[in-house]
Amino acid sequence: TRSPVTVTVTGAAGQIGYALLFRLASGQLVGPDTPIRLKLLEIPQAVKAAEGTAMELTDCAFPLLHSVDVTDDTRQAFDGTNIGLLVGARPRTKGMERGDLLEANGGIFKPQGEAINAHAAEDVRVLVVGNPANTNALIAQAHAPDVPAERFTAMTRLDHNRALAQLAAKLGVGVDEIRRLAIWGNHSATQYPNLFHAEVGGKTAADLVEREWMRDEFIPTVAQRGAAIIEARGASSAASAANAAIDHVHTWVNGTAEDDWTSAGVVSDGSYGVPEGLISSFPVRARDGRYEIVQGLEIDEFSRERIDASVQELVDERETVRSLGLV
Ligand code: NDP
Repeated sequence: TRSPVTVTVTGAAGQIGYALLFRLASGQLVGPDTPIRLKLLEIPQAVKAAEGTAMELTDCAFPLLHSVDVTDDTRQAFDGTNIGLLVGARPRTKGMERGDLLEANGGIFKPQGEAINAHAAEDVRVLVVGNPANTNALIAQAHAPDVPAERFTAMTRLDHNRALAQLAAKLGVGVDEIRRLAIWGNHSATQYPNLFHAEVGGKTAADLVEREWMRDEFIPTVAQRGAAIIEARGASSAASAANAAIDHVHTWVNGTAEDDWTSAGVVSDGSYGVPEGLISSFPVRARDGRYEIVQGLEIDEFSRERIDASVQELVDERETVRSLGLV
């Protein structure tokens, strides 16, 4: 076995936390030979519930689970962290303006960024799941100047997985027969799942489906899947979000297949006209423990329009948090 990895989960007593923690403790995050130390962060009123989950984790007697700590102290939660899964966030409530939402989340992600900067392990990697994930990740990153910016990422892997599943069902193929699909832009209703680079059996996916299906069914179904799940389940998606978080980190650490890529919100280097510094979803390859934006792809007009619209939303969110002094 390898040396243990310290994983911090925020919002640990929430729905996603409950679907996530048992899989982490069983060794699914980085691999089956890596022991894990879990640190659960919650707000004071949810600490007791998190302690209950910690008791259940103990009761599973997972061989790889070295320890579980529960705390409401942000600094303690990120002490020595190798992997931070930032799940807890302030949900949008009725009548709340976007600016209020961003401000409330600034109050969460700014101190977390500072704590990561000061206390996390040298190799810390951060995945933000809590919404608005891209801008929350930007806020945390802005307050961790000593951590390479590329270590802060936002989750679009669930959108990616949803897109894979929708396309596979449409074409009657297995999800593992699809390569090079990618989500571009913001993790929001403006996200753009791109089929023009995706391949199925050596053919371009966009050529295998009707343009109307892609525009009027595929794109909106993927973008609005979260709402459809709330409608059907009476609660937001949790297990699929937890699963995607695990996929995101597993791929980050273990790499993408040679002929494939995945999707993640990563800091833009200016590629594809996405303003530098924004955390936007791109097609990414993981190599040597790093996510890299896939370069040199041709962007057709249909895609350009949609990528630009989603990126504009990220620019607006950044403007808002700038005016609030959060970045
Ligand atoms: P969930 O566990 O269901 O969701 C947590 C966050 O993940 C939300 O921001 C949610 O966004 C987001 N999310 C991202 N992708 C998805 C997806 N595909 N499906 C569903 N959610 C997604 O929320 P709960 O309310 O059950 O739990 C949140 C917990 O976080 C609470 O226990 C609360 O106490 C805690 N919290 C902890 C903080 C901390 O540790 N400092 C700070 C704030 C809260 P959306 O709202 O858009 O659904």
